Amino acid sequence: MQTDAPAITITGTAQKEAWQRRVMPPIELVAPGVNSVPVVFPDNPMRYTLSYVLVDGNECVVVDPGFDSEEGHRQLLSALADLGVGPGEITGIVATHFHTDHLGMAARLARGSGAWVALGRQERRHISAFEDAHEESALDQSRMLGWGVPHGRVAEAAMTPEGLLHMRQLADPDRRLGDGDSLSVAGRTWRIMETPGHTPGHICLWDDNGELVLSGDHILPRISPNVSLEIRGDTDPLRQNIASLRRIAGNDHYEVCPAHEYRFRGVGHRARVLEEHIAERSREVLHVLGKGAPTVHEVARRLTWSRGWESLGQLQFRLALSETAAHIRYLVTSGAHAGVPGLVLAD
Ligand SMILES: [Zn+2]
Repeated sequence: MQTDAPAITITGTAQKEAWQRRVMPPIELVAPGVNSVPVVFPDNPMRYTLSYVLVDGNECVVVDPGFDSEEGHRQLLSALADLGVGPGEITGIVATHFHTDHLGMAARLARGSGAWVALGRQERRHISAFEDAHEESALDQSRMLGWGVPHGRVAEAAMTPEGLLHMRQLADPDRRLGDGDSLSVAGRTWRIMETPGHTPGHICLWDDNGELVLSGDHILPRISPNVSLEIRGDTDPLRQNIASLRRIAGNDHYEVCPAHEYRFRGVGHRARVLEEHIAERSREVLHVLGKGAPTVHEVARRLTWSRGWESLGQLQFRLALSETAAHIRYLVTSGAHAGVPGLVLAD
């Protein structure tokens, strides 16, 4: 692909080395008052969430506290103790998005400290919007059937009542943050930028000094963040994601502090690479659709998957389907294809 920006430069070199050695990266002082703390993400290939602890004399704000596990909780509290912050002294918690490896531990930390919890203004808490988990799960199962998932695999693809109830335990936000909002902590003013795509209300935090951006999962140095049509269908998450990638380009002097993997510089280059991946995948999806694949499941089955379609089970199976659905939706709203049954815009 063509790009006018230089390739990315890894700045989190100790983090990258740890990634390659498959060990937890160190706790690091990224800039005065800005600490990077890895929090374990058990049984997940991402291995950990990079939580950012912003501290000054009066405040301690934790951005993306990570997945709620006993070990992760211990890791975070011990890092806070080293910074001279007791568990009751956390003043605020920001999650870049609602996923459990970001917002997960917020509820527990807030209970122990009375800290406020903030989420993006557009983050629809659709996961807690349902009245009845069994009814919601049944709805999702019929949706999976509509996507052409074979009967024998519907239970594997659909959200279970237990899974939905688990999601409901996530903290509800006391504050909402969006474009135009800012947070002052650690001697910096952090401007909020809405970057929907990975989730409908994903946000990034830009430091007004022009040094750092806390980018959540919007942009990562190595992998393409998943963009899915979620349980209560987003209209066109891939289109939103492309717009969000374009929004953050042009800020190459910032050091990107992502929530996984390692820090780097060259956000513009990375955004263009990610956009090109999306375009490439879209071309593949359109090609498969053109051969007459009749359902979301059938399209997904005929796409290339890095570890092979047969290896995708449980959550990975669901994500493959919802990623494919997001691509089909994008092709429909682009006018490139009429789509497939079971994936209509009113979904
Ligand atoms: Zn994540």
